[in-house]
Amino acid sequence: MEKITNFFKTFLLFELLKGMALTGRYFFARKITVQYPEEKTPQGFRFRGLHAQRRYPNGEERCIGCKLCEAICPAMAIKIELAEREDGTRRTTQYDIDLTKCIFCGFCEESCPVDAIVETRVFEYHGEKRGDLYYTKPMLLANGEKHEEQIAKDRAADAKYR
Ligand code: SF4
Ligand code: SF4
Repeated sequence: MEKITNFFKTFLLFELLKGMALTGRYFFARKITVQYPEEKTPQGFRFRGLHAQRRYPNGEERCIGCKLCEAICPAMAIKIELAEREDGTRRTTQYDIDLTKCIFCGFCEESCPVDAIVETRVFEYHGEKRGDLYYTKPMLLANGEKHEEQIAKDRAADAKYR
């Protein structure tokens, strides 16, 4: 019986008609193609884009150089060097992220006890050579300063789940 059914299906081009019916259905359906870059899809407050280092409102760097982010990073993309300041506090002298290694897992921001390293909603960036995606501390702090308003809103939205 199955052989006969298959014979008629092949003979009557059943699969082709099925495919054309599907095409026809979507031909008249509402279009959902997003016209990027003029249109953007919605982003969640946990979107994991370009990294940033944050400062406190008084301008002090949040990062205390605990190295938890460096230790947890599965891609070994973070490099940190430290020094003690005159007031006895510890701060990083080097904080680099190699974005060609980063897998955007978000472990660094989850591990940070002071919300210093975060991933922003920024995804429109590129590099034309390998070194362009090696983000140094000044670059990360500049990202933080530029996007602090959105970062703070996203942290506040996520706070009740942490
Ligand atoms: S997002 Fe993941 S892979 Fe990228 S720097 Fe952070 S911990 Fe490492
Ligand atoms: S960014 Fe956060 S987790 Fe990483 S060294 Fe600084 S304080 Fe520690």
